[in-house]
Amino acid sequence: MIAKFLGGAREVGRVGILSNFNGKKLLIDYGLTPEEPPIYPMESPPVDYAILSHAHLDHSGMIPWICNRYNTKVYTTALTKEISEILYRDTLKIADTKGHPFPYGEEELENSLDKFVYINDKKKYIINDLEVEFHPAGHIPGSVIIEIKEFETVFACDINTIETHLLKGAKPIKCKNLFIEGTYAGVEHPDRKELEKEFLDEIEDIVNRGGKVIIPAFAVGRTQELAMILYKSGHEVWLDGMGYKISDIILKHGNYIKSAEKLKKAIRELKIVYSEHGKKLALKAGVVLTTSGMMNGGPVLWYVDKIKDDPKSAVIITGYQVEGTNGRMLLENREIDLYGVRTKVNCQVKFYDFSAHAGHSQLIKFIKDCSPENVVIFHSDNPEAIAEEIDVNVYIPENGDEIILK
Ligand SMILES: [Zn+2]
Ligand SMILES: [Zn+2]
Repeated sequence: MIAKFLGGAREVGRVGILSNFNGKKLLIDYGLTPEEPPIYPMESPPVDYAILSHAHLDHSGMIPWICNRYNTKVYTTALTKEISEILYRDTLKIADTKGHPFPYGEEELENSLDKFVYINDKKKYIINDLEVEFHPAGHIPGSVIIEIKEFETVFACDINTIETHLLKGAKPIKCKNLFIEGTYAGVEHPDRKELEKEFLDEIEDIVNRGGKVIIPAFAVGRTQELAMILYKSGHEVWLDGMGYKISDIILKHGNYIKSAEKLKKAIRELKIVYSEHGKKLALKAGVVLTTSGMMNGGPVLWYVDKIKDDPKSAVIITGYQVEGTNGRMLLENREIDLYGVRTKVNCQVKFYDFSAHAGHSQLIKFIKDCSPENVVIFHSDNPEAIAEEIDVNVYIPENGDEIILK
């Protein structure tokens, strides 16, 4: 097989893997890096079939473009399609407000929606005459690992191997060729159980001393996981922003998560903000879960503005913050861009690593358990950290490289 990286090789973002199995082509993911302005992958040549691993924009963002351009059929889970659609509309809105030129508009998006073909995990399908099986990836709800059976080739585009409240961990798949993300190559995550305890204790301390807690959280996956952790914490927790709508969609496709029943209970326990008045009530109550996760927009800015000068209050960041985002500036310099003005943040700022990606040792173990002959590491700033520890043929592509695997 031959794989050409259109993006996402030595970088975390804009994944596009054009793969060719004896002349049968499949595009695996086609995303953009959601910076301002966005960073796009190389232009894909015509392709009839694409497979989308999950809804994150760095894997899904350019799918509407390819559907329009080449009439490409996109195979993905129904849940991924529904979440992607919301993210696309949000991205178009942001591009419009910020005045970025964008490769597709509303009309193209509408045209692309009927090109999606739904698949389920744990099942086999024939796509472009290739037998393809899908497995749960443990990363976000609806995410899948893609296995091309006849060619013993597996694409693990964003995986998590630990069990969380929301999802079970990804299981290794025996294969010859393994394409695997390396987001956390060289970096270990803290023990999840201990982390949860520290997180809850921290909130308890802040509230007890009369402070407010603002938790920026990604709408997809993180909001639901945190809702389940905060369930029965004894605090009145408020939810503001896109997380509620996404939770609703995830609950409609309950088969992609561990327990729809438990998530439903956790979401029901939250108080939802519907209005400006709701925002004030939420702030008064003191614990708010809100979007956007990297604080580049969304209701979170309103809350941070209100608590930024109160040393008793805290912003608790729970995920990776991309360079150049408000979240990263807050962690590094204690300041954010607040409605166009560089603003100092004097309240406390905490970081808890609730990652949805496998950490270094987890990646190594997953790779070894797949017992591949060839491993291609992509979606990573530090692929060498993995390469050093595995005793197989390792490929570390650059964008634009073609890899040939026998
Ligand atoms: Zn992802
Ligand atoms: Zn990704």
